[in-house]
Amino acid sequence: MSTAGPVVVVHQEYCAGTGACRGAAPDIFGATDGGWVTVLDEHPAPDRLPAAIAAQEACPLAAIEVLDADGEALA
Ligand code: SF4
Repeated sequence: MSTAGPVVVVHQEYCAGTGACRGAAPDIFGATDGGWVTVLDEHPAPDRLPAAIAAQEACPLAAIEVLDADGEALA
């Protein structure tokens, strides 16, 4: 796993456990036993960025950010 490039950040304190992110990108987002979001792949491959962004857009609580290497939002 690369440590450079885009990064997926989740704010678990905002998560309501809907699972929408896991539905959009099950290889990138997981869940704790309590159903709160976890990140399985903090640095998705370029071909998985659309799925990460789709998950960000699917989150009703805006608990997900997908940032570029400079910390700017990709979507
Ligand atoms: S979509 Fe948002 S609220 Fe739902 S589980 Fe994922 S991070 Fe939590």
